[in-house]
Amino acid sequence: MDRIPVGILGATGMVGQNYITLLNDHPWFEVRYVAASPRSAGKKYEEAVAGRWQLAKTYAPHVGSLMVEDANDVSRAAAAFKKGECSFVFSALEMGKDETRALEEAYASAGIPVISNASAHRWTSDVPVLIAEINPEHADIIPAQKKARGWDRGFIAVKPNCSIQSYMKPLHALAQAGYPAQRIIVTTMQAVSGAGYPGVPSLDMLDNIVPYIGGEEEKSEKEPLKIFGCIENGAFKNAEFPKISAHCNRVPVTDGHVATLSLEFAAKKPGSMEEIKAIWAAYKRLPQEADLPMAPKHPIIYREEDNRPQPRKDRDADKAMAVVIGRLRPCNVFDIRFTALSHNTVRGAAGGGILNAELLKYKGYLA
Ligand code: NAP
Repeated sequence: MDRIPVGILGATGMVGQNYITLLNDHPWFEVRYVAASPRSAGKKYEEAVAGRWQLAKTYAPHVGSLMVEDANDVSRAAAAFKKGECSFVFSALEMGKDETRALEEAYASAGIPVISNASAHRWTSDVPVLIAEINPEHADIIPAQKKARGWDRGFIAVKPNCSIQSYMKPLHALAQAGYPAQRIIVTTMQAVSGAGYPGVPSLDMLDNIVPYIGGEEEKSEKEPLKIFGCIENGAFKNAEFPKISAHCNRVPVTDGHVATLSLEFAAKKPGSMEEIKAIWAAYKRLPQEADLPMAPKHPIIYREEDNRPQPRKDRDADKAMAVVIGRLRPCNVFDIRFTALSHNTVRGAAGGGILNAELLKYKGYLA
């Protein structure tokens, strides 16, 4: 099969670099178009990232020699689209919310589907916020979105914030088994790579914890409600539960966000901790027959050791796409408590975006 040519907006940044390496050998998609700020535009990709490449893996030789375009120049992307060099784009832009929202809409309006990591469109009523295992049916709002905007081929689909990735699948597994959560208190310990590059100044991070990440607690409390919601009359209707209280902290870890949760069930409670572990072990939901290349074989991995999960030891589990859980035990205030981990720049960013694109291709929304 010929690989589909794709573009990356924000290709030089932390998430952009992860897209580039994860797509090096991807069986369906090939990077043929890269764009970033005017600071990088006009340089070869290898020149634009020289001295600020962050990953152990490098980029494919053909990507190093691509010319970086200005991501604000939609007409250039439209020309690449016409020439067959770019069929859709992954957006990993870090710029103002209003500018990002307008720019992503301009791409969609020019006929270029946008699979985004940015938060700008997460609250747009007809834009799906996808975690492929949890709400693949939310992609089916795309025809209504296109019709309402008058877009023929373009559309926008986004993924949620990286801080919620580690516990959304465990919560979904329990809800599917008849045990939805009613109230949650969660504390996150988020890696520095989550702030992009150069990100948080080193003197704020070394020997330190920063107990504030702008906007993150609000996102952690609200985004799950849209993901657990449903489509009604061409727009999303949010779920009412779970009510979440979040404390988000930046900690001196390179990659991997950890969350500790205390959870109260809505009504029925599982009979034992072993029952919960069995529910997590059996969790698979995705169109299984789709065999999506980026999908983890084991979406939830439970570690029995008292001192796991740990970012350095567990973040790369199953292509860094699994969530790793441990320390499940009864809670003295709510019903249960546990610790969850996911890789923020892979599962929580580029890998999650690629999995969403695979899902959208499988469902026939990307060609
Ligand atoms: P980053 O390292 O700061 O990279 C930002 C990218 O945006 C760079 O390619 C940069 O280009 C480009 N850019 C900046 N200003 C621009 C402008 N005015 N016009 C066009 N392009 C511009 O940020 P990041 O961590 O990769 O995050 C990218 C997006 O993903 C953000 O929306 C972020 O919220 C989201 N996200 C990040 C994570 C994570 O773990 N890091 C997780 C989930 C979601 P230059 O290199 O030329 O400046």
